[in-house]
Amino acid sequence: MIRVALIAHNEEKPEIIDLVQEYEDLLSQFELIGTGTTGKRIAEETGLTVERKESGPLGGDLMIGAEIAENRLDGVVFLRDPLTAQPHEPDISALLRICDVHDTPLATTRSSAEFLLDGLARHVNKE
Ligand code: PGA
Repeated sequence: MIRVALIAHNEEKPEIIDLVQEYEDLLSQFELIGTGTTGKRIAEETGLTVERKESGPLGGDLMIGAEIAENRLDGVVFLRDPLTAQPHEPDISALLRICDVHDTPLATTRSSAEFLLDGLARHVNKE
């Protein structure tokens, strides 16, 4: 089954909820994991089940990075707030880096996330 991580910084949480609602039918066919607060909000505000890791500042980004290192993830949607400094910036950089190392597709904006999910949708029926 396709396994996707969903993460959003606080300023971007409304955007990821909106994205997930738009793609709910597709995402219901995926295994979803998320950082703590993002995962909680998606679970509460949509009908989807999300495996929740720690909150980002407490290590959730690194936990998702570890799954990428194990080749367990098919894609990452990480809606970042480019305008606000984050206390866990080193962890975020580590997550972006490990996606590059493993060529795991990573989207950091709404429009790139839509391309990523549209791309994964093409694989749904081939699995
Ligand atoms: P959160 O973490 O979903 O727990 O807010 C996201 C992040 O800041 O990386």
